Amino acid sequence: MSEADNRDTIESYKFHHIESSKCAQCKDFSCEEACFRGIYTVINKDSIPKCIVVEDREDRCVKCHICTTACKLKVLIID
Ligand code: SF4
Ligand code: SF4
Repeated sequence: MSEADNRDTIESYKFHHIESSKCAQCKDFSCEEACFRGIYTVINKDSIPKCIVVEDREDRCVKCHICTTACKLKVLIID
């Protein structure tokens, strides 16, 4: 029952949720390309990558779910 390895953290915006601790393993940053509305950006690509929602762009989302499919690590959740 140890949860010692469960260090995943979910960062929640209005209706996007990003399990961003998993982005550290990401190599392709496909979320950025996938979202044609420019909602995501990946910071720290040269160290510990982390996907974030660009400020003030969240409401541009049309809930097409292209991004949730594109992210192979299944980090992205949209309500
Ligand atoms: S959200 Fe997915 S594709 Fe984007 S950086 Fe994180 S793991 Fe990579
Ligand atoms: S659901 Fe579509 S519009 Fe919304 S963040 Fe994902 S790719 Fe972008």
